[in-house]
Amino acid sequence: MPTCPNCGAELKSAVFSNNMPLNDYATSFINSFTNGNAVAYCQKCGEPLLRQSQTTAKGQLTTVSATLNEHIHHIPILSLQAPASWRFTPLGLVTGQSVTGTGVFSEFASSWTDFFGAQSKSYNRKIQGGEEICKTQLRLACVEMGGNAILAADIDYAEVGGQKGMLMVCMTGTAVMLDNTEVMGEDARESLSVLTETARTYRLVKRFNEIMNKSQPQLHYTKSLFA
Ligand SMILES: [Zn+2]
Repeated sequence: MPTCPNCGAELKSAVFSNNMPLNDYATSFINSFTNGNAVAYCQKCGEPLLRQSQTTAKGQLTTVSATLNEHIHHIPILSLQAPASWRFTPLGLVTGQSVTGTGVFSEFASSWTDFFGAQSKSYNRKIQGGEEICKTQLRLACVEMGGNAILAADIDYAEVGGQKGMLMVCMTGTAVMLDNTEVMGEDARESLSVLTETARTYRLVKRFNEIMNKSQPQLHYTKSLFA
């Protein structure tokens, strides 16, 4: 009879006394969050470990979110292609989109005669809000790619939704890994190194969260060890 590589318990796929091996996702999830290194786990030993890993992952996600919130604004977004003093490795394209409110353009038109009045202030606020959302999306995508800066950033505005006058803001840029972070100054430099450390956990937790939220408990098992 095949046995569990972790605890040695007998593996069986009988109707009333199942002890199935967990699948590869569940196995790597457990190994990532419990410092385990077994090639597979069975239901018996794996399920408590799976629950423990999920609790750990949730806790880490909370910590990671707090860290990102605190430091992510330090990721520079520049329109320059290649600042002279920077040593960096390009990682890939990052994008952000936001559609802001309704009535932006009608407000804009009606406030034309009162351009510096209260109406135009709300117009500016909406554009700025859209830009901030896009910047955050760019920065998050950059961190996910393992980067710490964004170059060649470009911003576009478009009216969408016809008469409703919704404003779409689109940003693109190139995520890069900046090596000589000292060019950013002391504060930003510290934040960038914190972000780099956090990024690995962020990617791991995010990936497993997606998998675990999607898959039903029965999908956690595999029959591969019976083959
Ligand atoms: Zn086992």
